[in-house]
Amino acid sequence: MSRYYITTAIDYSNGDPHLGHAFEKIGADAIARYRRLCGDEVHFVIGMDENSQTILEPAAEAGLQPQDWVDRLAVVFEDAWKSLAISHDDFIRTTEPRHVKAVVELVERTKRAGHIYEGTYEGYYCERCETFKQEKDLVDGRCPEHPDREISWTKEDNYFFRLSAFRDALLEHIERHPEFVQPEIRRNEIRNVLKEGLQDVSVSRPQREWGIRFPGDEQHAVYVWYDALINYLSAVGFPDDRHGEWWPASLHVIGKGITRHHCIIWPAMLMAAGVELPTTVWAHGYIHWGGRKLSKSAGATVTLESATERYGPDPLRYYLLREVPWDGDADFTWQRFDDVYNAELANDLGNLANRTLAMIHKYRGAQVPTAEETALDRRAGDVLATYREAMDGYLLHQGISAAMELARAANGFIEEQAPWKLAKDDSAGAQLDTVLGSLARALGRLAVLLSPFMPGKCSELWKALGREDGLPGLASFADLDLTGSAVDRQAVLFPKIES
Ligand SMILES: [Zn+2]
Repeated sequence: MSRYYITTAIDYSNGDPHLGHAFEKIGADAIARYRRLCGDEVHFVIGMDENSQTILEPAAEAGLQPQDWVDRLAVVFEDAWKSLAISHDDFIRTTEPRHVKAVVELVERTKRAGHIYEGTYEGYYCERCETFKQEKDLVDGRCPEHPDREISWTKEDNYFFRLSAFRDALLEHIERHPEFVQPEIRRNEIRNVLKEGLQDVSVSRPQREWGIRFPGDEQHAVYVWYDALINYLSAVGFPDDRHGEWWPASLHVIGKGITRHHCIIWPAMLMAAGVELPTTVWAHGYIHWGGRKLSKSAGATVTLESATERYGPDPLRYYLLREVPWDGDADFTWQRFDDVYNAELANDLGNLANRTLAMIHKYRGAQVPTAEETALDRRAGDVLATYREAMDGYLLHQGISAAMELARAANGFIEEQAPWKLAKDDSAGAQLDTVLGSLARALGRLAVLLSPFMPGKCSELWKALGREDGLPGLASFADLDLTGSAVDRQAVLFPKIES
């Protein structure tokens, strides 16, 4: 059994969760659930980035102390993730003492290694990103992530991290480990940034009352980006030895807007402090709404609540991961959501389940008959291979397509075998057994393959197939046997919705 530590970026505590936040959690959750299906021992961590200066304004507007504000939002976020069936094992918050301890230790190790020095920063600073920007990063003189905000020119005393010293080591690491930055398009971008050369980065901000005190200088707070990245280590107990149970991380899931922090600054911070690097950083794309990146400002038109309430959490999970390629961008539209729900969930999958369960009920007294291996079983084996290849490569949308091929093949098998005709032929009893038994197996396998995407619906399906136990892992996929199970024909997984 291998160990698999997976994280998402932690969320800023300055507003409510939206679909963009949800997309990342859902995708990472599907990966975590897939690894569990593979038999891995998984540790899945999500959390909150609470030391940002950007929380002070909304906290004051709400009439709350900063700590009360972040405490309240942490509950709102975690509740949202629970309602979407996110199966995280830990929820790290950067105001927790365990995190502060890890940050202090990492800064001190880096200082001792001679990679932190005092200096003065002068340049552009985006208040929303809380990031210094270079002239070339700006679009029309503004931050590309926050085009509605003016960008300010700042001059202040800072502690600096000697990032420039790690350029060659980073380039070498990326060359030697193609899996380190993925997908490929992001790897190429990072390689190009490294080839241009790196500037040292500020790791403290002076005169900030909110944030972690900079070790050795009470007048400074640790720069929020530097502090936030360390959550991946603090969540597994760094600097205690027990962090080695999970570290190095197998996968950091992040959005493509923060690749430089995760693929350049973070590994350099780890190198500087003598800590092992994570295996892979995966940068997903964005959900667009009306052609623009879905964000807090666009959140008013499509809220997380409205999208979840449309058909429930599982269809939303399915739609997002099927529609937005995990390595790219796509539009969210209500029309597409309705179309995908009706065509794939209500028709392809829901109908298959309804028809199969009803026929087993009608022709075999609700008991799954003994069945020989059929072409449909052999097809399932091919589907599994395609599915695994997609999922191992983090191409979740392709994993869904592969699984749904099995649903379509099973529907084709019903048409071809016409069980209703076999039922009228007294000499075709054994053949009818085989057809119905093989269809039940296909449904059981679909429940397994789709469970990373729709955990709730897939356990309902498994129960409707008469099974009380939990869903099996991929190791028993080939031998999956439902003979003798008593099916429940009342189960309607995806009721058809007339618009
Ligand atoms: Zn910005």
